[in-house]
Amino acid sequence: MTDPDTYQNESIVFIVNPVSGSGQQRMIAEVVDKYLNKSKFSFKVLFTEERGHASQIAKLAVEEGASIVVAVGGDGTVNEVTQGLVGTDAALAIIPTGSGNGLARHLQLPVNFRKAIGVINQGKRKKIDTATLNGSLFVNVAGVGFDALVARKFEQAAKRGFFSYFSVSTSAYRKYKPKKYTISIDGKVVKRRALMVSFANSSQFGNNTTIAPKATLDDGLIDVCILRKLPLWKLMLLSPLVFTGKFDKTPFLEIIQGKEVIVKRKKGKYVHLDGDPGKEDKTFTIKVQPLSLQVIVP
Ligand SMILES: [Mg+2]
Repeated sequence: MTDPDTYQNESIVFIVNPVSGSGQQRMIAEVVDKYLNKSKFSFKVLFTEERGHASQIAKLAVEEGASIVVAVGGDGTVNEVTQGLVGTDAALAIIPTGSGNGLARHLQLPVNFRKAIGVINQGKRKKIDTATLNGSLFVNVAGVGFDALVARKFEQAAKRGFFSYFSVSTSAYRKYKPKKYTISIDGKVVKRRALMVSFANSSQFGNNTTIAPKATLDDGLIDVCILRKLPLWKLMLLSPLVFTGKFDKTPFLEIIQGKEVIVKRKKGKYVHLDGDPGKEDKTFTIKVQPLSLQVIVP
């Protein structure tokens, strides 16, 4: 049992990405001040200035004794904050303000600020898995192939949001040639030519685009999702199945679960980790870190 007195000065740090999604989060300090239970928490609101800054702030917050660190941003911000929290007693909370909010949506966290702060006030904790790709952390979905390409193009695209994402994706989709992958999943080897291969900790990329309907965050397994290329018109026709979590019922999506995944590819150097583009070797290993992160959930 927690002594109510030790509860009183629980310290909480809000890490805000000022440039994610809607931009509303710039007002967050006032909203926190109004709705956070200040008899339970003392709080700080800090803004990130560049990529990588959120993980530095999170590490420092933990060193200074924060019990909850809140990522106010999208999946990229969640990823960075998580880097500072894995394996510690501090819990991650999320106020989703990104364009996709994959992990937050999987956890059914409210997007509304007031409700999101209500969830933090209640402080219910759950342990979840995280994973690494050649040692780099991801907590939602990582991948190679077409979506890694789109993540890179999307980063260069001036306007964010679903429409920009959509137009960038469709023109790239037409031109994209599927690549060959040799994938070893806990020792079982499969060879596939694929549009993309995604490594799902949660079930979705964001915006309820479900790639791994059966993925759970606490089973110690990554869902390896191998997607074949299908004609664009067919993809459009079948896209409702992505939003209703039934795309795995089509022959285009194959899902294999495992703890350790080794991928070899002949071409391509790009990957994405929680939607943020990066480069990796042609061969890379994905490992699950079971129940390595505490999250505040509704
Ligand atoms: Mg899992």
